[in-house]
Amino acid sequence: MPGVALKTLTKRYGDLAAVEGLSLDVAPGELVSLLGPSGCGKTTTLRLVAGFLQPEAGEIWVGERCLSSPASVVPPERRRMAMIFQSYALWPHMTVAQNVAYGLRFKSGITRVDRDRRVAEMLRVVQLAGYEPRYPGELSGGQQQRVAVARALVVEPEILLLDEPLSNLDANLREEMRFEIRRLHEAFGITTLYVTHDQAEAMVISDRVAVLNRGRVEQVGTAEDLFRRPRTRFVAEFIGRTNLIDAVTAEPGIAACGSLRLRVASRDAAIAAPIVVSIRPHEIELLAAGRTAPAGANVLAGTVQRTSYLGDAVDYQVQVSGTQVVLRVTSAPPVRVAAGDSVTLIVAPEACVPLAGGDGGPTRAAG
Ligand code: ATP
Repeated sequence: MPGVALKTLTKRYGDLAAVEGLSLDVAPGELVSLLGPSGCGKTTTLRLVAGFLQPEAGEIWVGERCLSSPASVVPPERRRMAMIFQSYALWPHMTVAQNVAYGLRFKSGITRVDRDRRVAEMLRVVQLAGYEPRYPGELSGGQQQRVAVARALVVEPEILLLDEPLSNLDANLREEMRFEIRRLHEAFGITTLYVTHDQAEAMVISDRVAVLNRGRVEQVGTAEDLFRRPRTRFVAEFIGRTNLIDAVTAEPGIAACGSLRLRVASRDAAIAAPIVVSIRPHEIELLAAGRTAPAGANVLAGTVQRTSYLGDAVDYQVQVSGTQVVLRVTSAPPVRVAAGDSVTLIVAPEACVPLAGGDGGPTRAAG
């Protein structure tokens, strides 16, 4: 099973670079999601890989095969890939069995018996055995999605490409299908690129997630890497909620924002360099009365501005004393303090993550 390497791909529409110098390596058998806001270039990247679009610059490799370079381009039908679209793209006049068998028509050396066996096997895998004679119009959205998956897998592609395949399903079914797609990936191990703008979907389904911003890969990593060790402001804000504090490096490993001094996770930044520190709301603890802070932790005095009971969590907004910084703190119920109370916050240095991209906007609490 080969991997995929995208090397400094660029695709322009007029003056707009939809994809710009994008590089990404997908290991053999890995499922990598392309995640990012609308218009960041996810679908364009997938279409470049499929061969439906030609890049102005860059190369696409699958294993040892170069599929696209300034010198030569392999057409889509010879790329040994299958793509699943948001719209499913099933043939409405064909039955389920005919839809799934469709891709096999172009494969040479497959007998009718072989074909029927593979179609039946694939429908069993996607739990649609018995649905062979139905037409797409007689299926639910989730069942149509399963037919699209079966049709893509039956041709045994080297690479599977999925473009927002679950976005037409209702919320419950979408959640169920995430696990189904992950299950199928584990069963078949096909190298897969998966486009989504839904971060929970990306985190559940993927081995690694590539966060795209303005046509480039901003960061690629496991869900936990991206959540706990974001490298840029964009990633910290896009993946989950966070508090962002604009600060400067006062000394190695210490960030200062007015009178607030924080021990942070990295000692790399140059002295006096502006940085942004990201702290996830659930990493901040309200110190209970009578307890002492663990050695080495940041200890911040503050005043509660607001508490919100959310059922499975309580959300506090706490103004840090002597500063304009307001931190969002999330902890488990019950509600422990009320608006106006003085509190002590503790946060481990490892939870204070310095980010690149410290240019964008005021210090603010998680939204
Ligand atoms: P979404 O999540 O909304 O589908 P996306 O991340 O998949 O977004 P793309 O569809 O790759 O984004 O589009 C990237 C940029 O390229 C957008 O600004 C889009 O408007 C532009 N674009 C895409 N296709 C074309 C086209 N055929 N002609 C001109 N501009 C295009």
